[in-house]
Amino acid sequence: MTVISSNLGYPRLGEHREWKHLLEHYWRQQLTASEFHAQAKTLRLANLAKQQRLGVDLIPVGDNSDYDHVLDTLAAFGAVPTRFGHFDHALNLDNYYAIARGTKTAVAAEMTKWFNINYHYIVPEFDDVDFQLLDNRWLRYYQEAKTELGIDGKPVILGPVSFLKLGKRHGQYLDDVAVSELLPKLLPLYVQVFAELAQAGAKWVQIDEPTLVKTTDPAELAPYHHALIALHEAVPTLNIELQTYFDSLDLYDEIVTWPVQALGLDLVHDHGENLAHLQQSGFPADKILAAGIIDGHNVWASDLQQKFALVQQLQAIVGADRPLWLQPANSLLHVPITTNNETDADPVLLGGLAFADQKLQELHTLTTAANDGISAIQAEFDRNAANLAALNQSSHRNNQAVRAAEVQLPQQTFERQAPFATRIKLQHDRLHLPLLPTTTIGSFPQSKLVRAKRAAWRKGNLSDTDYQAFLHAETKRWIDLQNKLGLDVLVHGEFERTDMVEYFGQKLTGFYATQNGWVQSYGSRGVRPPVIFGDVAYTEPITVAESVYAQSLTAKPVKGMLTAPLTIINWSFVRDDIPKAQVQNQIALALRQEVQNLEQAGIKIIQVDEPALREGLPLKQRHWQAYLDEAVYSFKITTTGVKNDTQIHTHMCYSNFSDIIDTIKALDADVISIETSRSHGEIISAFEQNGYDKEIGLGVYDIHSPRVPSVAEIQANITRALRVIDARQFWINPDCGLKTRQEPETLAALKNMVAARDAVAQQL
Ligand code: GLN
Ligand code: ZN
Repeated sequence: MTVISSNLGYPRLGEHREWKHLLEHYWRQQLTASEFHAQAKTLRLANLAKQQRLGVDLIPVGDNSDYDHVLDTLAAFGAVPTRFGHFDHALNLDNYYAIARGTKTAVAAEMTKWFNINYHYIVPEFDDVDFQLLDNRWLRYYQEAKTELGIDGKPVILGPVSFLKLGKRHGQYLDDVAVSELLPKLLPLYVQVFAELAQAGAKWVQIDEPTLVKTTDPAELAPYHHALIALHEAVPTLNIELQTYFDSLDLYDEIVTWPVQALGLDLVHDHGENLAHLQQSGFPADKILAAGIIDGHNVWASDLQQKFALVQQLQAIVGADRPLWLQPANSLLHVPITTNNETDADPVLLGGLAFADQKLQELHTLTTAANDGISAIQAEFDRNAANLAALNQSSHRNNQAVRAAEVQLPQQTFERQAPFATRIKLQHDRLHLPLLPTTTIGSFPQSKLVRAKRAAWRKGNLSDTDYQAFLHAETKRWIDLQNKLGLDVLVHGEFERTDMVEYFGQKLTGFYATQNGWVQSYGSRGVRPPVIFGDVAYTEPITVAESVYAQSLTAKPVKGMLTAPLTIINWSFVRDDIPKAQVQNQIALALRQEVQNLEQAGIKIIQVDEPALREGLPLKQRHWQAYLDEAVYSFKITTTGVKNDTQIHTHMCYSNFSDIIDTIKALDADVISIETSRSHGEIISAFEQNGYDKEIGLGVYDIHSPRVPSVAEIQANITRALRVIDARQFWINPDCGLKTRQEPETLAALKNMVAARDAVAQQL
C-alpha cells in the first residue's frame, strides 16, 4: 500500500458538546478532578476509536486538550508565568485553568486569534520562564491509545519555533533574536520528549510549524532548520512529519531539503502555490509528501473526481512507487464534527456538506481509489457527483434575479451623491447634534431574561406575539434609559440578535443555520457559524421594524444597525463553488436594499458594522490589497444608495489600524467608531500621522470588564484624542457593543461618559 490516509487533529467538542459541558461542570465544581479525568479519557478514546472506524491509517494522538493546545505546550514545558506560581511537577487542573481563566489575584493569560481562523489560543508569556519538562503528555497519550485501542498513533506537537513565535516577551511577540535566545533552552526538552516517544515505540511524530507559512525571508529559516537537525540527530529512529498549514511555503525549495521524513503541505488554502512548487521543483525521493488535499476549515463535500485527479498528479510528481499520505489541509479542529445530526437540513444541501467525519471518509475513499483503482469505490464517486450536481443545479444556487443583479454590477458605480464635505453639512442641519455627540455602538445587555425569552420562543414555549411584545418592551425601556442618560444618538439595543450574523442569515435566502455545527472558538466556547450555501437574496426587511419602533418612541435620532458583508462572510462557512467575493457582493446588494428601506422608513443614521475587517486579513501581505479592495467595494455597494443627508456610520473592533488606514478612508463612511481604549494611544497616533477628515468616535472606555470608569478617566481619554482630532469631528462612545455587560455597570459607565463629555465641552 503506497497511499495512506493521515489526520492532523480531530475536534475536541464531542458530537453533543460533551467536552464543553465537561469543562464547565468542572469549573462549577460539579465534578471532582478524578471524575473530570475519567470522562475526558472516555471522550478522548471515543474520538480515536471513531477515526479508526472511519479508516484513518495514521491517527493523531495528543491533539486532544483540556482547553487549548498552546496552553498544553506551555504547561508541559513549564513555561508558566510566575504570577501563577512556581512548579516543579505537572500542573494540576486548577493550576492549568488558572492560566486560561485567571484567579482572584492573577489575571488570565492573553488570548488571541490562531492565524486566520476563528479559534483563539492562549498567548505564552516568556518573560522570566525557566523551561523544564513537567509532563510528557505526548508520551502519555501515545501509550494510552496503544494500550486501550491498539492504535499506533502519531503524536502531534507544536514545533518549538512556532511555539516561541506565538508567544510574547515584555509584551511583544518574539523576534528572531529572542527566539534564538530561548530556543537552546527549550530544544533539549523537545529532544527528551522525542527520545521517550521513540523508546515507547512511536514511529512518527507530527511537528507543527505553522508560522513557516508566514516566513518570506530566508534568514528567518535558521531556527526551524536548526531545531529539526538537532531533533533528528538526537533521535534518528523517530520519523518526523514537518507539518505546515493555512497557506503555502514561499521558501519551499529550502525547506524541502531539511532532515525530516515527511513534509505536510496545505494544498487547499495555498492559492495554488504549493502545487506549483511541487511541479516546478519536484519532491525529494527520500521523503514522504503528506498532501493536505481536503479543506480543513470549510464544510463542503469535496468533488472526489477532481481530488482523485489531484492525487494522481501528486503521484506522478513523487513517483508512483513512492509512499504518499492524503490528509486534511489542516487540523479538523476547525470544522464541526458530523453532518449526521443535521436532521432538519434540506437533503440537497446535506448531500453537499462534509464535516470532520465526512472529510475523513473522503480521505478513506480517495486512498482506496489510489491503491485499488477507481472501480473499488465507483459507487461512492457516483454518489458524490450526483450530490454535488443536485446542489449546484438546485434553485438555491440558481436565483435568476441575483444573477441579473450580478451582471449589472460592473456597469454601476457605488459612490455617494456628493462628497463628504457637502454631505456632512446637510447631515448637521438635519440632525441638530451638539458638539461631541454621544452614542453607543449598538447592543445593550443581553440579560438572563432576554436570553430566557429567546430560548422559550425558539422552543415554541412563547408565541411570536408575546416574544415581539417582550422585545418591544425591552427596547422601550432602553430608549427611556438612553433619554434619561442624555445620550444624543440612540439605538434600539439589538435584543432580537444573538450575535452579529445569525439574525441576518435568518432573513436572507441562501443561509442555513446548523443544528449541531459547533466549532471551538476558545476554551469551552463554541460557535455555530451559519452556512452560506445558496444565492443570497433580499426577500423581506431585516431590521426595519425594530428601528422604526425605537424611533417612534423618541424625538432623538435612532441609529439603524447592520452588519457589513465582509464580516458576515468572515463569520460564516461560505460556499466554495463560486468566488467568495461574489457571495460578498450578493450580500452587499441585499443589504443595500435594507439600507434604503431604513432610510425610507425615516431612519436618519445607519451604522454598518465591519468589526472583522482586520482580523480577516490574509496571512501573506501580498494578498491584502485584493481583500481590502473587495471589502471597500462591498461596503460601498451596501451604503451608497442613500441621500446626502442620511448619515452612514461604521464600527471596527480593536486592531492595529495604521497599515489599513487607507482602506478606512476609502469606505467613505460619514462617521467611524473604533475600539481604542486598550490600544495605548496607537490608534490615536495612527490618525494623527495619516490625517482623517471625516467624523470619528474613538472608544473612550473599555467595555470588556465590568469596571465602571470614572468621569475623570473618560475625560482624560477624550482630551487626549482631541489633541489630534478636531472637536467638530469627534464623537463620544464606548469601545464596542454592550451586549455582554450587566445593566447596572452599563448605566453607571454611560452616565460617567455623558458627564465627561459635558465637562470637556464646557471647556471648549
Ligand atoms: N453593533 C454591534 C453591537 O453593539 C457591534 C459589536 C462590536 O463591537 N463588535 O453588538
Ligand atoms: Zn467593536
